[in-house]
Amino acid sequence: MTKKYDLLIRGGLVVSGSKIRKADVGIKGEKITSVEPRLPQGEAGRVIEASGKYVVPGVIDVHVHPVYEDDMGGLSFTAAHGGTTTLIHFAYAKPGMKLIDTIKKFKEEGLEKSYLDFGIHGALFDPASQVEEIPKAFDLGVTSFKMFMTYAKLKWMTDDYQLTHAMDVIAECGGLAMVHAESGLVTDYLEDRSLKKGEDQKEVFLKTRPDYLEAEAIFRAISIAAVMQCSLYIVHLSTERGVEPIQRAREEGQVVYAETCPQYLTLTDADLQKLGPLAKIGPPLRTDKDRLALWEAIQRGRIDVIASDHAPKIKKKEDPFFEAPFGSPQAETMLAISYDEGVNTGRINPCRLVQLLCENPAKIFGLYPKKGVIEKGSDADLVLFDPNQVQTIQSKTQHSKVPYTLYEGRRCLGMPILTMQRGKILIEGGEMKGKPGDGRFLATTINPKLKLPSLGGRG
Ligand SMILES: [Zn+2]
Repeated sequence: MTKKYDLLIRGGLVVSGSKIRKADVGIKGEKITSVEPRLPQGEAGRVIEASGKYVVPGVIDVHVHPVYEDDMGGLSFTAAHGGTTTLIHFAYAKPGMKLIDTIKKFKEEGLEKSYLDFGIHGALFDPASQVEEIPKAFDLGVTSFKMFMTYAKLKWMTDDYQLTHAMDVIAECGGLAMVHAESGLVTDYLEDRSLKKGEDQKEVFLKTRPDYLEAEAIFRAISIAAVMQCSLYIVHLSTERGVEPIQRAREEGQVVYAETCPQYLTLTDADLQKLGPLAKIGPPLRTDKDRLALWEAIQRGRIDVIASDHAPKIKKKEDPFFEAPFGSPQAETMLAISYDEGVNTGRINPCRLVQLLCENPAKIFGLYPKKGVIEKGSDADLVLFDPNQVQTIQSKTQHSKVPYTLYEGRRCLGMPILTMQRGKILIEGGEMKGKPGDGRFLATTINPKLKLPSLGGRG
């Protein structure tokens, strides 16, 4: 006789964005079929004991770069170990590349290699030649598009004319514009001036990328988005000064989402001075005042999403700082670090963490309630999180291909001990049970009228 449930997760604390309840979770096939105080154990193929553990929705990491040391296979492998079940990748269409071809290539690679379900954002490096392809991207299930307002020297920067053009087209299609907001040309001048003076680029890294330039670019992007009536998403917000223009626009009813990353919530320029090139990321690690201001913004509902900006590159502490590439591995540590720094310090409760890591990203990208919540009818994507288990983060036990982590030696209270995707156990006992190609492609959709519970100030 077939059982009513394939799996029953028993007696855990089931966390959503609004409440924590002690409940059993019944799973049949790929779906959650019951969440009730007590379910009959005899009707389950396997019972997983979860008392004293949190049962949280699988993390949805919407900011990852599978084009460096971890490809779509490797990235999903390392992320799954950290409690992530869904990824949204940036498909980098570099100058000279077609947007649609790039999206198709990423989709194919993901279907072949990914352990996790995944969506795709278009990333436009040359909007002048790529914007016209945006409407076709919607037919492929890609509805969000990122542009850089910085890295002018690298020729990655989108100027205001092209940004406006892109937002015009994105708004027309009902999509979401995403920006890396830093004033590229001003940064380049400051850097050139400093190089001419022969200054140590590590020491002045923060000074050549001051907070004003993030706030300026955010305000500029918001202004253009307001004129073009385009929904906007600010990736990796890193400064106190950047919070204000976002909040003001939200109070005026504009659709502007804000994301930050675990590294900006835990590390500062002091860590950069110790770790050198390993901690060279863009935007830079900021001051402790900025870090604390980001936590306050999270507490006040002014930041919607925590995502990793996972971009692992080969580099060493001793490398010349200026030549070292930007980026660090972050996907696997995100849940544990955010929990330890946010929940264990009393800054936020587990519900707020679930909003930031699961529920809000699912809602913003149209994956909710299939993803991002533990409810009857949702995909059985979930994580058992043991709040009493201590782990010491070490690169040798991490699964990224790069041999370092910015959190080496950090003790975290609380760790994910089981990751499940669509009813299938992916990680148990630290072992990957899934295989490449298990992941499915997820089309995103953007709702311009979305109201998130965290948007306290929005009318
Ligand atoms: Zn990024």
